Amino acid sequence: MAATNHALLSPSAAHRWLNCPPSAKLAAQVPGKTSVAAEEGTAAHALAEHKLKRLLRRRSNRPVSSYDTDTMEECTDDYVSFVQEKLEEAKAESKDPKIFVEQHLNLSPAVPDGFGTADCLIVSDKHLWVIDFKYGTGVLVEAENNPQLMIYALGAMSALGQLYPFDTVSLCIFQPRRENVSCWDISRKDLEEWGNKVLKPKAALAFSGGGSFTPGSWCEFCPIAPKCRARAIKQLQIAKYDFKLPPVLKDEEIANLLAELPDFVSWANQVLSYATEAAIHHGKHWPGFKVVAGRAVRKYKDQDAVIKAATAAGYTDIFDKKLIPLTAMEKLMGKDNFKTILGTLIVKPAGKPTLVPESDKRPPINTDDVKKEFTEE
Ligand code: SF4
Repeated sequence: MAATNHALLSPSAAHRWLNCPPSAKLAAQVPGKTSVAAEEGTAAHALAEHKLKRLLRRRSNRPVSSYDTDTMEECTDDYVSFVQEKLEEAKAESKDPKIFVEQHLNLSPAVPDGFGTADCLIVSDKHLWVIDFKYGTGVLVEAENNPQLMIYALGAMSALGQLYPFDTVSLCIFQPRRENVSCWDISRKDLEEWGNKVLKPKAALAFSGGGSFTPGSWCEFCPIAPKCRARAIKQLQIAKYDFKLPPVLKDEEIANLLAELPDFVSWANQVLSYATEAAIHHGKHWPGFKVVAGRAVRKYKDQDAVIKAATAAGYTDIFDKKLIPLTAMEKLMGKDNFKTILGTLIVKPAGKPTLVPESDKRPPINTDDVKKEFTEE
């Protein structure tokens, strides 16, 4: 989804402001920051848009970017194939579906001053598809109940709903670098109901700066997260466990802590990185803290001179020869050659056992097998 930098209630931040309405106004006061990942995402979107337009025989000049890579080429090609697949589905069920690329949408009927740009919309008299290309790898994005896509769907419905009597809305996330294609259907009626009963009141509250600060998983990308008092209070609740009572924690207490820890660690890291950046780059002094040089590792000043000096002294066994990493090899050969030449020589060992919440989508592994592996050696 293209960036919507100037809307106070940005659809891409909807998960946050729907859950914590006053965050919208406060976050708007923080100057926007860009990052390599964001710039890379913008470049990937521009390329995807170009390829899709060319596929549809529309005019478009290929964008030039310093972020272009083989991966970006492949991911944008895959995205275009996915859209093409959905377009074929639309053609199969309806006579004259329409496709809109990077479609600007007025979202203000539901979200005050709201606007945004949908990556791709396909509409027919039976169906509306809202397709969102995510180039990021950080968070796996699901389509189910995704408020960003639901808002775009409502925007598309108010623009096209009169002309097309579709009753099914499909929201799709295409996130190739996480091998994630997630689609979810909702009826037009249910979406409208969500828009009226949930979105509109929450958006009005957020727009007015009302509501209460409510910390949760949505804090992670909140611009004020490192300084937010409500979040700090919530995170510090973890320190309030009454450790005075039984000296040893019960299993339920450890399970409760496990559920809280990822959020706690992420908050602690954000506070640390905010304070470090302010101290190192902006001269901020935090009472009781100072900036020092970190631990340094020795390195060669001049590799050629080292080779010369060591060889002259009779040391010739001074080089390591290593295989290039697997992904670099795949890039070197190209996917097809890599498969033909090395396909049978590649294995994927089982991942390191990890403790995750029950809600995680991966199936559980048998820990008896793991124990056996350790004791058999
Ligand atoms: S950090 Fe969390 S609780 Fe604080 S304003 Fe942002 S979303 Fe709300």
